[in-house]
Amino acid sequence: DTIWNGVEMGPPDAILGIAQNFRASTDERKVNVCVGAYRDETGQPWVLPSVRAAEGKMIENNENKEYLPIDGDAAFVEKALKFAYGADAPLERIAGVQTLSGTGACRIGGKFLAEFFSGNKIYLPVPTWGNHHKIFGECGLDVQTYRYYDRSTNRLDLDGMLADIKDAPDGSIILLHACAHNPTGCDPNSSQWRALMDLIKEKGHLIFFDSAYQGFASGDAEADAQALRNVMKEGLPMLLAQSFAKNFGLYGERCGTLSVVCKDAETKDILMSQLKNIIRPMYSSPPKHGSSIVKTVLSDDALTGQYYKECTQMADRIQSMRTRLVEAIKEAGSTHDWSHVTEQIGMFAYTGMSAEMCDQLTDEYAIYLTRDGRISIAGLNDNNLKYVAEAVHAVTD
Ligand code: PLP
Repeated sequence: DTIWNGVEMGPPDAILGIAQNFRASTDERKVNVCVGAYRDETGQPWVLPSVRAAEGKMIENNENKEYLPIDGDAAFVEKALKFAYGADAPLERIAGVQTLSGTGACRIGGKFLAEFFSGNKIYLPVPTWGNHHKIFGECGLDVQTYRYYDRSTNRLDLDGMLADIKDAPDGSIILLHACAHNPTGCDPNSSQWRALMDLIKEKGHLIFFDSAYQGFASGDAEADAQALRNVMKEGLPMLLAQSFAKNFGLYGERCGTLSVVCKDAETKDILMSQLKNIIRPMYSSPPKHGSSIVKTVLSDDALTGQYYKECTQMADRIQSMRTRLVEAIKEAGSTHDWSHVTEQIGMFAYTGMSAEMCDQLTDEYAIYLTRDGRISIAGLNDNNLKYVAEAVHAVTD
């Protein structure tokens, strides 16, 4: 076989490659704090009981396996958009389609913008979820960055952020994480949001919200959606990529939405037709199981209530591990300031550790994490917390 001889090995994915190394390791001390997926207090994945109950109902109701429409299950999309934009959202002028989770939402949104938006530049925070660069590049957008996080203070770099957004050509696309910024866990506070909105309005930019952690961050889905709802109420043009991977624990079901807030219902209809035209040649229609689960949960008051409790339970466990991690690092003898880690929200502790320190954690302690110093707190539990804290202290001392 010679036809593929010219093909060279591609680079492994930064995050999924580390997860692979974790699986391959035979070190019995090994700890996986790399991938952003929830683990319960025993280190196992958790299927929410409300999700299981919804699946039971779906079987009871004999749900079939027919194709969904190109734009997905309309009843699911309606529930999903109300979850994000609020019960009183003007759905009659929001064009929304079901997508392959948050990744697919970014992909469809990016392609839509590349085809139909006047500006071709999209500005991503530094740092951001690594896949953003690849997704929006693939869509044909000109990927630019804005300063977001100051590694010297371990805090938001508001001045840098405002300066870069100001320098961007008028009418650019600004990607903002809706809450629990990945990887830093550092969000603008309300006065910082105010300053951002004022500037974005003045510059005529378009906001692309990526919402991968609604409810999962604080435990309160309404609170976590506040920033994006304020932007919508302010009337700033916006798109939203919504993922149900983390907050519903539906990672592998690939369930999400992409939506565009329009000025009226007529525009919505036109945009829906174009969104469908983008989806059809890509994958025809989205998968059905995950969206049926979300629809079933959010259509039933009792299940919805149960779901909210379970989501809070995940957020609370992560929250408490965050505090305990910092306590344990101090107990191990560290005199560094770790207050940034306690202040952060969401799934990750952005520790400020250097790439070399991360390598040392992996090579000497079999602790698998990304080289930016990000620890997935969900991977911590009573069995490994002290071990990880002592190792962090050893490499940062
Ligand atoms: N956006 C952000 C910021 C993320 O952190 C993630 C997942 O880690 C995603 C989007 C997309 O995830 P998924 O495609 O699994 O919904």
